[in-house]
Amino acid sequence: MALLQISGIQKRFGGLLAVNGAGMDVADGELLGLIGPNGSGKTTLLNVLSGHLAADAGDVRLDGRSVLGLDPTRLTRLGVLRMFQMTRVFNRVSAYDNLVVCGLAMGLDEAGASRRALELLEELKLGHVMHLDAGQLSGGQKKLLEFGACFMVPPRVALLDEPFAAVHPIMKETMSAFIRRRNQGGQTFILVSHDMPVVVDLCARSVCMNAGRVLADGPTQQVLREPAVIEAYLGE
Ligand code: ADP
Repeated sequence: MALLQISGIQKRFGGLLAVNGAGMDVADGELLGLIGPNGSGKTTLLNVLSGHLAADAGDVRLDGRSVLGLDPTRLTRLGVLRMFQMTRVFNRVSAYDNLVVCGLAMGLDEAGASRRALELLEELKLGHVMHLDAGQLSGGQKKLLEFGACFMVPPRVALLDEPFAAVHPIMKETMSAFIRRRNQGGQTFILVSHDMPVVVDLCARSVCMNAGRVLADGPTQQVLREPAVIEAYLGE
């Protein structure tokens, strides 16, 4: 059974059907690309998955259990984590302490939180700034720190919405290497990104949305070559 089963999701904003019956299965350990032109409903769908928006119809099952309509806090506890919205960096606390506090809040003991924090800081190349207050970090470093905080206790499914937007190329490299490594270790992701080279590089499979529907679903290279997909992007 797929880890995440998404079916018939509909979300209306007034007269606009932002998501119009979208569905897809996500297997445990998959790194799925979610692509499509601007306004095709990708962010709205992620917001439904993370509980930030209530769907008008459809279902979302995690391990076979319906989780549609649960609030973001419940979903986070179940392991459905939307990045950059669920975490907060405290500016007057060190990068290291930010991660430790986050780990403690997620139920780790002090030794475990400390160990994970050090591992993550190393992996995200933040070791040299770990004792600086988070407020002194660059925007990109802060984003990496927030990113790391989400993995103090790895979620079942990590939902990433344009994680590379406005991130320095070197940090983008660090972040994509991190995503790849974690995925190789079994971490499940849904990645929304306009950065096609990164999507091609990271995601074996992609779903392309258009006008709130799934236009194509399959191997990324194949999806990108589909005439309907090319046409949708040309109309952007
Ligand atoms: P994408 O992430 O693919 O760019 P979105 O999910 O952000 O697309 O948006 C899908 C459609 O829904 C767009 O037409 C957008 O303008 C509209 N939309 C998104 N959020 C809202 C909202 N809160 N209120 C009204 N319309 C919205």
